[in-house]
Amino acid sequence: VTFLKTTDGEAVPRPSEGYGKIIATHYNTLEEKGLHERSKSRIFYLRNFHNWIKSMLINEYLTKIKDGKRHNSPIHVLDMGCGKGGDLLKWRKGGITHLICNDIADVSLDQCKSRYQDMKSRNGRDRNSTIYTVENIAADFTKIRLRKKYKDPSIKLDLVSCQFAFHYGFESLAQAECTMHNAAECLQPGGFFIGTILDSNDLISRVRKAGSNVFGNGIFKVEFECDVNKPPLFGGKYHFNLDGVVDCPEFLVHFPTLIKLAKKYGMKLVRSEKFYDFYERMHVDGQQLMGNMKGLETFPPYPNTSLVGTDGDDYSHAEDFLR
Ligand code: SAM
Repeated sequence: VTFLKTTDGEAVPRPSEGYGKIIATHYNTLEEKGLHERSKSRIFYLRNFHNWIKSMLINEYLTKIKDGKRHNSPIHVLDMGCGKGGDLLKWRKGGITHLICNDIADVSLDQCKSRYQDMKSRNGRDRNSTIYTVENIAADFTKIRLRKKYKDPSIKLDLVSCQFAFHYGFESLAQAECTMHNAAECLQPGGFFIGTILDSNDLISRVRKAGSNVFGNGIFKVEFECDVNKPPLFGGKYHFNLDGVVDCPEFLVHFPTLIKLAKKYGMKLVRSEKFYDFYERMHVDGQQLMGNMKGLETFPPYPNTSLVGTDGDDYSHAEDFLR
C-alpha cells in the first residue's frame, strides 16, 4: 500500500493501555539466528520472497522521490517497526541520507543498531561509498508521538516505511489515529508512505470457510478472538503464529477505514496491491534480484488466492465512521 502526502493533518487524541507489552516481549525474546540456521527454516523461501517485495517497493518509491528532486538532494526516511534492521541494506542501496529507526522492542532495536555499525565498518573499507546516518527510537508508535523524540523535530521526511507492522496500530481507534499521525506528521507534501499488511478480507474469508475461529496449516495458524461475522473496525484481534517466528496478537485492518484515516492526516491512496499482483507487475524488473535469492528461482512459491472480498455486508457498521 502506498499513500501520497498532500496536506498537513489533524492532532492525535490520547490513547489507552493495550497489547503493546505482549507484542514487544514476543519480539524481544525472538532468538537471533544466523544465515545458516535461517536457511534451514521452513519459511526461508517465504522470507526471501518478502524481502524481494520490500526491496522492490523501497526501490520503486525512492526512485520516484529522486526523480522529483534535484540531483544529490538529501533523502530522509522513517522506518516504523524496523525490527532487527532487516531493511538496513536496502536503504543503503537506495542511497538515502538519514534513517530514523523506530521499534517498540528495544532488544530488536539494539540488534538493529549493531547491524548498522557492522555495515558502517564494512562500508568504511570501501572509500568510494558513503553511508546514511541513523537515529533510533524505542517507542510504541501507536501511543507515542514520534516527532517529539526526533533529534530534529522539524525534519522533513521524504519516505515513511512500515513493513509488516502497521496492523499493530489497529488495536483501537486512538492507536490507529496515533499510528497514522506518526506516519504522516513529518512527511513532506509529495512524500510517500509505503507499507505491507495482511489482507483482512482474505483472513476473514478463510476463517469463515474453515467454519470455526481457526485456520492454518503445519506452518501457520490464525486464531480469531473477535466476531468473524461482524468484525470490529478496531480491535479485530486474532492470534498469528508463523512457524514460531511470529507468535502474537495482531489486528484486522479494515481497508476503507485505513484510507479514511490516511485522508484525515493529509494522505491519499496511490496504490494497493496483493503480493501476487505486485509480483506480476515487478518480476521482470526484479528478475536479477530474484535470481540472487535462494528459492525464488522457480517462482511463484504460492498460487494466487483470489478470495471473495467481504466489504459491505460485514462492515455495514463502518458506515458511520466512513461518512
Ligand atoms: N519491519 C521489519 C521487517 O520487515 O523486517 C520487522 C517486521 S516484524 C513482523 C514487526 C515489527 O513491528 C517488530 O519488530 C515489532 O517489535 C514491531 N512493532 C509491533 N508493534 C509496534 C508498535 N506498536 N510500535 C513500534 N513497533 C512495533
